[in-house]
Amino acid sequence: MTYRAPVADISFTLKHAAGVKRAIDEGLYGDLAEDLLDAVLEEAGKFATDVIAPLNRVGDVHGTPLKDGAIAMPPGWKEAYTAWAAAGWNGLAGSADWGGQGLPHAVNAACIEMWNEASPAFAIGPVLTMGAIEALDAHGADALKRAYLPKLVSGEWMGTMQLTEPQAGSDVGALRTKAERAPDGSYRITGQKIFITYGEHDLTDNIVHFVLARLPDAPPGTKGISLFLIPKFLVNADGSLGARNDVRCPSIEHKLGIHGSPTCTLVYGDHGGAVGYLVGEENRGLACMFTMMNNARLAVALQGVGIAERATQQALGFARERKQGRAPGAAGTGASPIIAHPDVRRMLLTMRALTKAARAICYLTAVATDRAHRAAGAAERKAAHERASLLTPVAKAFSTDIGIEVASLGVQVHGGMGYVEETGAAQHLRDARIAAIYEGTNGIQAIDLVTRKLPLSGGGAVKACLDDLRSTVAALEAVNDPALGATGARLAEAVDSLDRATQWLLPRLDKAPEAALAGATPYLRLFAHAAGGCALAEEALAAIRAGDGADAAARIAIARFFADNVAVTAPGLERTVTEGAESVNDAQAALAG
Ligand SMILES: Cc1cc2nc3c(=O)[nH]c(=O)nc-3n(C[C@H](O)[C@H](O)[C@H](O)COP(=O)(O)OP(=O)(O)OC[C@H]3O[C@@H](n4cnc5c(N)ncnc54)[C@H](O)[C@@H]3O)c2cc1C
Repeated sequence: MTYRAPVADISFTLKHAAGVKRAIDEGLYGDLAEDLLDAVLEEAGKFATDVIAPLNRVGDVHGTPLKDGAIAMPPGWKEAYTAWAAAGWNGLAGSADWGGQGLPHAVNAACIEMWNEASPAFAIGPVLTMGAIEALDAHGADALKRAYLPKLVSGEWMGTMQLTEPQAGSDVGALRTKAERAPDGSYRITGQKIFITYGEHDLTDNIVHFVLARLPDAPPGTKGISLFLIPKFLVNADGSLGARNDVRCPSIEHKLGIHGSPTCTLVYGDHGGAVGYLVGEENRGLACMFTMMNNARLAVALQGVGIAERATQQALGFARERKQGRAPGAAGTGASPIIAHPDVRRMLLTMRALTKAARAICYLTAVATDRAHRAAGAAERKAAHERASLLTPVAKAFSTDIGIEVASLGVQVHGGMGYVEETGAAQHLRDARIAAIYEGTNGIQAIDLVTRKLPLSGGGAVKACLDDLRSTVAALEAVNDPALGATGARLAEAVDSLDRATQWLLPRLDKAPEAALAGATPYLRLFAHAAGGCALAEEALAAIRAGDGADAAARIAIARFFADNVAVTAPGLERTVTEGAESVNDAQAALAG
């Protein structure tokens, strides 16, 4: 089955579920008009479908072999990357000051989804460069920006993001990489980083590493971390490449999926220390890295959506062709295509509904980020910033969890042909698995949501979100379309459950943190089921308003399916939060021995 970027559907979700149409109408996006938006999406869809997608399998099979400290990327990847960067895709959301196109994050998010549909291993490299650009633009000194941003924005150089060390994974504060001040104002870095995505490769002439390290007099923990820019090749005053810096790649990881993405160990300081330049202030590196990570978290969320979309397309294609058994009520004689069997249809609809809900949550997050940057009033910017902060962990964890679930269902729809490698269904499942782990594990996302995001504005941020969800439910009930069945009632239940679980959690953050932490993951899922269900309902409502009967029927069907089959789990998830937490903490005996 050939993959096609779902451009029309992406455009619809952006405009009607995520609020891009309203943002355009309000002038939030300046010159951006709907036809320009659609033209950009169309071009991205073509590039993803025609150029990147054929390389996905090549990357999986070929991998990224390391020889003498250098990595050869899979055949065809350098040409594709060079063409991709030359077409301006890397700088889509980059500032015009540095050669970018300054388009909204929401547009870039849609494109990132498509790069990931085409090949998650390809897409993850540029995503880190984009995060690096944001961090440097927001926190870097002018001279550093001038030296590095134009080439990072154009994609001529790529960036990396380096937190992880053997003893410092989720616990970033445990990192030990050392930075010492040099007389010329630069720093000398020594230490080792592991699991670094695109830490070494031959796609670009230079690689710009963004590395967290600790000064000798730094306070312990996360308050003593600084961010350094460390180029693979030093850059001369005229912009040309100079000497090789004191950083090398001694090994790469052999891993379950994303074989086309090199995952490297990097060693700094074999010869006295790599030259590094401070980004932001000393000991304030984590705040800078968070600029980079928030962007990257949404991008990894979109990786989940992208893989889910591709797996769904592939499973649908297979289910239309594969014939087995006779479906109930089948006409004629002979075997039916498996799509006619209700259980297979259930799997396919689950795949489609989860993918679309996750997509909508990701785009809502991107639009909130845009509003946080672009809105005229300070109060609106603050509210939007809080909404983006609230939704980012939900987008990251839900989208990457469903990426795995959808890819796994994709294997199931294929039967034995899914478990063998030649259909590609298995690759989607292998590739999807990492997204729930990197950029902060999904467990850490849930903890972030509950402990840091729920208390924003004294609970006001989550209340505002609940109010919006209730408005959707009210609009749905006002439409009173019989085709919607119990969609409104199911979503009302889901929002009520989310509200009650929120009220249960908030006071426990201080008084009973163990209980709150035990319920964090099911709470995040509950949040996503309520928010995702309402987003799909918004799409159905928009389609009804537009009066396109066939489109409205399809969008109503998916919103209803989600409400009846996914959002319906909300009361159970609520009980998992409010009652299950106790047994998580009381049942430790079951893990003894
Ligand atoms: C393919 C790949 C690419 C990567 N790319 C990069 C990269 O480019 N840059 C980079 O810096 N890193 C990268 N990483 C590292 C990645 O970000 C970490 O693996 C991840 O943050 C988890 O850290 P860890 O592996 O040490 O697991 P651990 O932190 O040991 O976690 C193990 C388990 O314990 C849970 N856990 C840990 N602490 C807590 C806690 N406080 N509360 C509750 N649960 C907890 C986790 O959720 C997880 O389930 C990459 C990893 C891989 C595999």
